[in-house]
Amino acid sequence: MTTTNAEKPGISKYPRLFAPLDIGPARLKNRAVMGSMHTGLEEQENGFERLAVYYAERARGGVGMIVTGGISPNAEGGMGSKLSNSGEVAQHRLITEAVHAADASVKICMQILHAGPLANPAPVAPSPVKSRIARETPRELDEAGIEKQLSDFANCARLAIEAGYDGVEIISSAGYLLSAFLVEKTNRRTDSWGGSFENRMRFPVEVMRRVREAVGDEFIVIFRVPAMDMLEGGMSWEEVVTLTKRVEKEGASIINCHFTWHEARIPTIATMVPRAAFTSVTERLRKEIGLPIIASNRINMPDVAEDVLARGAADLVAMARPMLADAELVNKAAEGREDEINTCIACNQACLDHTFSGKPTSCMVNPRACRETLITFETARAPKSIAVVGAGPAGLAYATVAAERGHRVTLFDSAPEIGGQFNLAKRIPGKEEFSETIRYYARMIEVLGIDLRLNTKASAELLKAGGFDEIVVAAGIVPRVPDIEGIDHPKVVGYVDVITGSRSVGKSVAIMGAGGIGFDVAELVTHAGPSASLNIDVFAKEWGIDFKNHPRGGVTGVEPVVTAADRTVYLMQRKTSRLGRSLGRTTGWTHRITLTRRGVKMIQGVEYKKIDDQGLHVVFEGEPRILDVETVIICAGQEPLRTLSDDLAKYGISASLIGGAYEAVELDAKTAIDQATRMAAAV
Ligand code: NAP
Ligand code: SF4
Repeated sequence: MTTTNAEKPGISKYPRLFAPLDIGPARLKNRAVMGSMHTGLEEQENGFERLAVYYAERARGGVGMIVTGGISPNAEGGMGSKLSNSGEVAQHRLITEAVHAADASVKICMQILHAGPLANPAPVAPSPVKSRIARETPRELDEAGIEKQLSDFANCARLAIEAGYDGVEIISSAGYLLSAFLVEKTNRRTDSWGGSFENRMRFPVEVMRRVREAVGDEFIVIFRVPAMDMLEGGMSWEEVVTLTKRVEKEGASIINCHFTWHEARIPTIATMVPRAAFTSVTERLRKEIGLPIIASNRINMPDVAEDVLARGAADLVAMARPMLADAELVNKAAEGREDEINTCIACNQACLDHTFSGKPTSCMVNPRACRETLITFETARAPKSIAVVGAGPAGLAYATVAAERGHRVTLFDSAPEIGGQFNLAKRIPGKEEFSETIRYYARMIEVLGIDLRLNTKASAELLKAGGFDEIVVAAGIVPRVPDIEGIDHPKVVGYVDVITGSRSVGKSVAIMGAGGIGFDVAELVTHAGPSASLNIDVFAKEWGIDFKNHPRGGVTGVEPVVTAADRTVYLMQRKTSRLGRSLGRTTGWTHRITLTRRGVKMIQGVEYKKIDDQGLHVVFEGEPRILDVETVIICAGQEPLRTLSDDLAKYGISASLIGGAYEAVELDAKTAIDQATRMAAAV
């Protein structure tokens, strides 16, 4: 017997999320939009074939509408892929046909993205103003150049119809071409395209008008406005409203909201940003217009989406990264299987950090994302009995993938709970989302019938007696103990004891090691009050955002309010490079800014000499110094834990090593989960 939509438990639980919406003649079957996300696949071999499979999986996963990653309207647009002539249509047809074949009711819109001053190479812009994050100063567009861009937008939209798309999205934010016209900082023109706001918004409005003229009345045109650009001297609220009303008049079908420019220094998508953080802005804008409006940013679970819709803050919710993490998110919500959703934890480690380093996008918690044709989970032809030792990220990924493929998996951990290092991460203020990954795996262990043995030290004898076909050691790491005099002094504490709270920390602290964990520990010991990621007011204060009054850019004249624990903290490394270089490209700066504001003294090029009652003796800048601290916290990386694999070798039992047990140097959860997933897909 098949289940009808009305019988699916999630449909009545999330009535607004699953309510259809008519956009002109088009009907969206629900309010869930897969937001635009650049994947970098366009530039890969068979990139469009891979994109077709990637989007089709998300269409099957239940989403109502998909917006593709950005495609340039011409060569100047600077994205990896453009749609500017009929010869480029066929590759896009692969995508649209695959999506419509997967589910004919799903709409797919192509985002037209002209990077303007951020294009590489040969950027163009309203004025020759170099962005802090651009490589080159852009060439100023003359009148003929402006006209060319406008007609290229219209041409691109016309070609999108030919390619089988249901609509297009025009992005007018983030520091790309359209937004560069909007603000005085980047538009210094004195002709009719600059000066007054009426003139500055002329280009984006004209793009909207030309696109509508080119595509006729029935094609969906989403216009993405910079609802809060987070720039000093950026757009005022009145300007945001004026622009939105004008593009509504020029024929936009849907308004999408975007927050920040890439060069701004306010986190808008990192894990420390509260869920649905910016929806108060979307809500206010929605009251000004008659069009459906899309909310975005940090909406990662169906209850968050439902709440945004129920508050009247939006008509549709965009989820981009959550669809990387779990292609089935919407179906799982509909079927009341929310606890099986592999939640996007906003770490950016395999998505945006990859994008901004020129690597193809994927997802830390779902390494299949954007690699759907490369990593497949085929049903095992000859199911094996597999022991996995260690229920940290690597062991959990291996166990669940192997079990999904039909293997019989027994998962051992000597701890009383699963999660390994993620149990430490989730305790760091701003990283609470990591507990979602543990919840996901806990549920999948139940669903897949994995035999979980907690509080069980899997010895070589026990494993031998178990008669397993395969043994996988994911027993992780042990924290490295630096070989320096006084390392066993009572004031020395390991990071595990600090994070779990089993050892207290004094008023003055030296943190030895400034990798990801050194930074996490510095955050923990300098933190005071509620976590910003769980409290929008704290977040707004900490980053200097005024949501209520919306000064220019939302930030102009608003000073961040720093709250910090009463503690002197030194964060140190031996390398002479700037601290935090190993942190994520899109998030490292947020940690550096936060700790600097809290007065953490970051010191590179340190030589550790000894620890004694006086404190930590170091040499830096050629001078011997004594840091008179009460506590020295060791965050000096890890060593692989090899005891078990060595014991197994003594019995002549072969085992596969994964995660930190395999290689602890520079190992992070992304590498561990990726390696484990690939191995489990092949066993
Ligand atoms: P890590 O990134 O390898 O950093 C270890 C730190 O210890 C370095 O600063 C290193 O700098 C120092 N160190 C190494 N050997 C030392 C020794 N013998 N004596 C004194 N200092 C020594 O390791 P981690 O911080 O423990 O992090 C583990 C993994 O988790 C990493 O891959 C990390 O990227 C990941 N992680 C990431 C995040 C994130 O936010 N993305 C957060 C937490 C963890 P010097 O050698 O220059 O002194
Ligand atoms: Fe989300 Fe992290 Fe996956 Fe990116 S890598 S989609 S932020 S979980």
